Amino acid sequence: MENRLIIFSDIDGTLMDLTTFDMGPVIEFLPDFKKYSIPLILCSAKTMAEQERIRSILQINDPFIVENGGGIYIPSNYFPIYELNNLKKNIRISGNYIILELGVPYKKIREILCKIRAHNNLTFVGFGDLDVDEVSRLTGLTVRNAHLAKQREFDETIIIPKNEIDILRQELERYGLTCIHGGRFYHVIGAKASKGDCVKILNKLFSNIFGKKPISIGIGDSPNDMSMLMAVDIPFLVEKKYGGWTNVDLLNIKKVKGIGPKGWVNAVKEIIQNLSP
Ligand SMILES: [Mg+2]
Repeated sequence: MENRLIIFSDIDGTLMDLTTFDMGPVIEFLPDFKKYSIPLILCSAKTMAEQERIRSILQINDPFIVENGGGIYIPSNYFPIYELNNLKKNIRISGNYIILELGVPYKKIREILCKIRAHNNLTFVGFGDLDVDEVSRLTGLTVRNAHLAKQREFDETIIIPKNEIDILRQELERYGLTCIHGGRFYHVIGAKASKGDCVKILNKLFSNIFGKKPISIGIGDSPNDMSMLMAVDIPFLVEKKYGGWTNVDLLNIKKVKGIGPKGWVNAVKEIIQNLSP
């Protein structure tokens, strides 16, 4: 049997326009894409609530990686339960999902951030300090989507002046947390949570059910996709909102033409073309 493919994809600035949130080119291309039955694993800073909405628009039912690798949501019955138990990770069942928890709980992150802010007289704010209307104004999200963005479990989104970033990073290190840039905002997450580790876990699960290692493809746009892109066989970068590609130090990176969702479609077309005889 030939190798199966899996696609891991970032959302903001990749599958979806960074500021208009448009997914038009991807939605138009979906009927063609679906013919190939390639699992599409969303891998993003977005929350479970936000990604569920996107999954329902795209009508996909594959596992997804939330909040920059804080957790993996797997639909029940997608993988045999013994395969999940064999991973020896924290597992929680919620509704129709089995959740692998890899990150630090949001409540803990908030406590540490508040402590660091007070001790160092810093002025950054997180989504947890803001109400839904303020998050909507800052992000440009509708009030309904801002409500989904506030339902955080493993990652705090912060708005921080440039001169506070180094101080915050140093302080976070002592608590086993880290701060990464996500394209628009900074994110504070457990230092051990990464998109890349989640990709490796899912690759292993797919290998076990396929009986052979799949070929993994990653599509991203910004530095917070690095660990995902490093963990896949074929990494793609789409063009950034205002043109050009983010700087990454990866020899096999493929820089595809097209900003955000347009680039996404070009990357997937390139993969599919190579599948055809
Ligand atoms: Mg992005």
